[in-house]
Amino acid sequence: MVNLALVNAGAGLARSRPILGRLGTRIMPSLDYILAIDQGTTSTRAILFDAAGAIHHIARRELRQIYPQPGWVEHDPEEIWQSVVATCREAITAAKRPVAAIGITNQRETTVVWDRATGKPVPGYVAAIVDDELKRAKIQRPINPIGIGHCGPILVKHGTDEQKNRYIMPMLSADEIWCQLFSEPGAGSDLAALRTRAEPDGDGFVVSGQKVWTSYAQFSRWAILLARTDPSLPKHRGLTYFILDMESPGITIRPLRQLTGSTEFSEVFLDAVRVPRAHVVGAVNQGWEIALTTLAHERGTGFAFKEQVLQRIAVEDLVRLARERGRAADPVVRQEIARGWIEVELMRLMNCRTLTRLERGEEPGPESSLVKLFWASLTQRLHQLALELEGPYATLVAGSRRAVEDGRWQQAFLWSRVGAIAGGTSEVQANIIAQRILGLPR
Ligand SMILES: Cc1cc2nc3c(=O)[nH]c(=O)nc-3n(C[C@H](O)[C@H](O)[C@H](O)COP(=O)(O)OP(=O)(O)OC[C@H]3O[C@@H](n4cnc5c(N)ncnc54)[C@H](O)[C@@H]3O)c2cc1C
Repeated sequence: MVNLALVNAGAGLARSRPILGRLGTRIMPSLDYILAIDQGTTSTRAILFDAAGAIHHIARRELRQIYPQPGWVEHDPEEIWQSVVATCREAITAAKRPVAAIGITNQRETTVVWDRATGKPVPGYVAAIVDDELKRAKIQRPINPIGIGHCGPILVKHGTDEQKNRYIMPMLSADEIWCQLFSEPGAGSDLAALRTRAEPDGDGFVVSGQKVWTSYAQFSRWAILLARTDPSLPKHRGLTYFILDMESPGITIRPLRQLTGSTEFSEVFLDAVRVPRAHVVGAVNQGWEIALTTLAHERGTGFAFKEQVLQRIAVEDLVRLARERGRAADPVVRQEIARGWIEVELMRLMNCRTLTRLERGEEPGPESSLVKLFWASLTQRLHQLALELEGPYATLVAGSRRAVEDGRWQQAFLWSRVGAIAGGTSEVQANIIAQRILGLPR
């Protein structure tokens, strides 16, 4: 049997090789192969490492430049995507043995590591170690974060055998990307107020409504969808959890531009979209509990593990930045950096508690809101501090000749605002802690 992990090595591949090798020996025998995707500026490579870190196979595809001017390298995102899929497929085929996959969620994305051969999750600590090591080496997140981080664990737990057999393997290999159709214009924090309807029709349902903020919708082959199947029931009842084919007729996707300038998420319009009954996950009208588990994975395991390492890297980089800007002796700056370091350590301990819970076979639970809330303010404070250290240069963004570190802190500062919104706002996390952990009245 061959176990395989998929990581997105990004630009850090050269740096990551010894790390990948070390990983192999640390977490054996769970891992036999690691598939690293290196999305370079002119080509895509998929590299299959064996457990000792030796390269087993390299698949490579050149990319066509759209703007071939000097200094510009721009590619068609669809072409990049196709090349990633094709190179992955070639490298996996090169394994030449039956492949049991272990999905290692990254970033926003760890924990969910499943062994396809047994259908059981492998120990969460394996994923945590892998995640920790990859992030320490500044390796980018694996692709398909929502599939691997949110949808996979739900299918493993609540899916039928047919659903597991059909969806999990291409999800892990990133042949099929997934997105999450939960939020609506009138239902974000109050998700149970969602109005998208799924009406029974023959051997299935017809879905109509609008979703919004759907990350990676434009790249996705499948979605998890929460829709109302019985409006006569109280709002938390009467919801059903579906798998939706994103290539179905009646789906319109309109990308939205974010503060950071990218178009990671979209509006998704559903106009009489047919969904077969076999795509129901769990039971009809009982989707709410499954949705809560999905959100707990998103908050507690989805990004907490990778963020712990990313914030530690941020603190280390802040020390360097403070020295370079001549601010390292400033007592206020020193206090703030030390506070950041202590809080990252606290976050690591909170994540250890989540891992213990997972090891015992428990769900992440409402405690995941503690980690999410803690991280959201930590990341915002650290990136605010970076801009303060830059002084007047803080106003210069990427592309400006005099921008510090090519505007990387400015971009990260803008992105850090996401922490208090995505996956449930900070106010909502505080409500969950008050009501479900402290038992305070609603
Ligand atoms: C980068 C990003 C990616 C996302 N990706 C996805 C995705 O892939 N799929 C998906 O389904 N959704 C996604 N979302 C949506 C996200 O889950 C929602 O934005 C979030 O739940 C908040 O909902 P809302 O935007 O409707 O804000 P609202 O619910 O309208 O909240 C507005 C304000 O009111 C406050 N508020 C609301 N209710 C309460 C209350 N009871 N007590 C106190 N304060 C309250 C909120 O804290 C907030 O400040 C994404 C969001 C972001 C930013």
